[in-house]
Amino acid sequence: MKLNGTSSNIPPNGTSTNGQPSNGNHKNGYALNKHFAGMPDHGMPDHDVPDNELLNHDELVDEIGDAHGAASIDTPMRSDAFAIDDDLKIDLIEEHFREIMSILGLDLTDDSLKGSPRRVAKMYVNEIFSGLNPANKPAPTLFDNKFRYNEMLVEKDITVQTYCEHHFVPIIGRAHVAYISSGKVIGLSKLNRVVEYFSKRPQVQERLTIQIAEELKRVLETDDVAVIIDAKHLCVSTRGVRDINSSTTTSAYGGKFSEEATKQEFLRYVAQPSVTI
Ligand SMILES: [Zn+2]
Repeated sequence: MKLNGTSSNIPPNGTSTNGQPSNGNHKNGYALNKHFAGMPDHGMPDHDVPDNELLNHDELVDEIGDAHGAASIDTPMRSDAFAIDDDLKIDLIEEHFREIMSILGLDLTDDSLKGSPRRVAKMYVNEIFSGLNPANKPAPTLFDNKFRYNEMLVEKDITVQTYCEHHFVPIIGRAHVAYISSGKVIGLSKLNRVVEYFSKRPQVQERLTIQIAEELKRVLETDDVAVIIDAKHLCVSTRGVRDINSSTTTSAYGGKFSEEATKQEFLRYVAQPSVTI
């Protein structure tokens, strides 16, 4: 059994194929596992679960899910992530999600349920995970800093709606980002767009925070960037420990924001009540 195995199918009899290519041919004659067979996975090491006297396999998987740590700044992606187009991804996800619902015992002929597999597939590809595709990355609109505004610019209370990559349930919160211009300024809405783009992926909050900060550094050509995210994880509030009150705060401080005075100035702006209009 693999911790991070390639796409393994569960055949109708319910026994695991242990990551081996399945006979699950797509209706278009496309075999998912056949296509991906032999393709390397990236990201977390693809190793067998070590023997562990304290934790069985399921417990170990739960532990990793609860640790919420990111192994890398980059979202772990397959090298062949875009070998198939979005339309085919929707068809394939629809088929597999229908299988999940069926295994759960749901009646897919029911009027209320029969459209759900395709609805979920379209939502995954076109909406909530559209940020996996670099083609959807917002193009930065930069302007010269004509006003010679050399103080920090803070964009706060940016809505964050992302999905925990360990449980595939929402993480909802707010981001506060800031930068000090190195000569270029960015359109304000682009700050929101950058947060939104990296949020539309299965995420861990730590990685999301760093990805936003690194993208802003790259686009703005400065290390003087700060990002704070404060968010609630539905995997903490609706399952597991079921704590509806706790939230998680992460931060990334680059360049001048590593200096205490600058960091404190940023935190003061963030702490101020938001303007209401
Ligand atoms: Zn989670």
